[in-house]
Amino acid sequence: MTPRPSGLPVLANPAAFLRYLIAAWTVDFEQWRRDGCNSCPARWRPWWSEPSFSPAGTCGACGTPVGAPAWSAEAVVALITAITVGGLPAFGPASLAVGAWLILAAALGAIDAVVHRLPYRVSALAALVLYTGLAAAAALDGTWTPWLRALVVGAAALAVAETLRAATRGKAVAGGDGLFAASVFAVPAWLGWDWAVATAVLAGMVNLAIGLIGVRRLHGRVPHGPGMVTAAAAMWAAAALA
Ligand SMILES: [Zn+2]
Repeated sequence: MTPRPSGLPVLANPAAFLRYLIAAWTVDFEQWRRDGCNSCPARWRPWWSEPSFSPAGTCGACGTPVGAPAWSAEAVVALITAITVGGLPAFGPASLAVGAWLILAAALGAIDAVVHRLPYRVSALAALVLYTGLAAAAALDGTWTPWLRALVVGAAALAVAETLRAATRGKAVAGGDGLFAASVFAVPAWLGWDWAVATAVLAGMVNLAIGLIGVRRLHGRVPHGPGMVTAAAAMWAAAALA
């Protein structure tokens, strides 16, 4: 009983794509990925904007809540759109690359907040979208210096994460954490060295706040993804306004 795909391919509908990513990847380590409803036999067609990924946030077949709460993904996409459009006058086509990355990064932040993991495939896709998007922007308007700076900082973040992963045998850093760090620090690095440093400081403060507020509920395990994505998005918006 697979509902027929309705409407557009999911890529033309960012909120549905965000919903699909969150629904599919918010699973425990033992489970690789979810491909359908937990409460009924409905399977999802990943690349189509089907009823299960509509703003209601419920399964199109049985009505059980699926992934993100009602209208939350739509609100996040509206915010990302505002940041992307707001960045266009100052940063040109690079803002479109960052906007596309933010959809994937928002999914990663949401998944990390719930199940404390950053799925490798989503992190890899986010890094690929960001670096190729920024390269395409550079080809259009010659912003190769910021692109190179993003690449250097991204590679450094990846190296630090992989070193931590080796040193802690995957306990502190795992799966897609390295590739996630490589893209989340590349965004402010595109703006300038000082923005990258400011992001690290802000992300640290946000994570500390999450840790202090939610330390009991989180059982001492603080997800770093949401704070880092929020910090990178805030830097992009702040730089556009500056
Ligand atoms: Zn269902």
